[in-house]
Amino acid sequence: MIDKPKTALVTGSSRGIGAETAIWLAEHGYDVCVNYLSNQTAAEIVADKIKSLGRKSICIQADVSQESEVIRLFNEIDQQLGQITHLVNNAGILFQQTDLLGLTEERINQILMSNVTSVILCTREAVKRMKLNDDPKECSIVNVSSRASVLGAPGEYLDYAASKGAVDSLTIGLSKELAHWGIRVNAVRPGFIDTDIHASGGEPDRIERVKSAIPLNRGGEAIEVAKAIGWLLSDEASYSTGAFIDISGGR
Ligand code: NAP
Repeated sequence: MIDKPKTALVTGSSRGIGAETAIWLAEHGYDVCVNYLSNQTAAEIVADKIKSLGRKSICIQADVSQESEVIRLFNEIDQQLGQITHLVNNAGILFQQTDLLGLTEERINQILMSNVTSVILCTREAVKRMKLNDDPKECSIVNVSSRASVLGAPGEYLDYAASKGAVDSLTIGLSKELAHWGIRVNAVRPGFIDTDIHASGGEPDRIERVKSAIPLNRGGEAIEVAKAIGWLLSDEASYSTGAFIDISGGR
């Protein structure tokens, strides 16, 4: 029997958790669109790796916080890769650590646009296409939230934590709204994972500072998150929807 094609979009897959997820998916039979914001070289390295695994891949620059760019991204996937079956809403940002008094309207809105609006827009465009699939039950979505949604990130990133709280709510609401079609929506909540994102927050060595407060006494690797995303996305998780996997070393 010939396997049906699996075509995934991983938003923000030029680096970090998204890059590891894109490669893991290729290793497990998916063609993958590598989306990025500005780092074309890193995105091309990921796409080349996917092609070397015998899968199709395209790199598309698109700011997923912007509606017109999301629409263009999905149209390009339709034309160059085929009908999308799987979506990983991974792209996300944080800014310099600050307490409440350092938060500005501009910063808060940028965080919400990048971390929440992007999830809604990408899911909307993906679901339009998934509903046209011969069997929408074969389609699924994973959102990349954060343990910050539960812990709140006081004194560091209240705005970021709140944006991930919204991702959790969206995961619950979307899982129920899309269950009618059999489209599953789940989420992962990583803790401290070794990627570039901590440098964006002004503390590249953040994991070293906090690791003694993590029960497993270490930060996580992006591949450890990618494997959980891959499982939730796959048929192996066929009875899970609206579910969360914490990947945080027990914190
Ligand atoms: P990262 O290493 O900083 O990588 C971020 C990725 O997102 C890059 O590929 C970047 O593209 C892309 N990106 C950012 N904004 C985008 C936009 N508006 N449109 C399209 N692409 C965009 O981050 P990461 O640590 O892998 O984080 C990935 C996800 O995991 C995020 O949602 C983050 O909140 C979540 N998370 C991370 C941790 C952690 O400790 N690392 C913990 C909990 C949750 P360019 O390369 O072009 O800049």
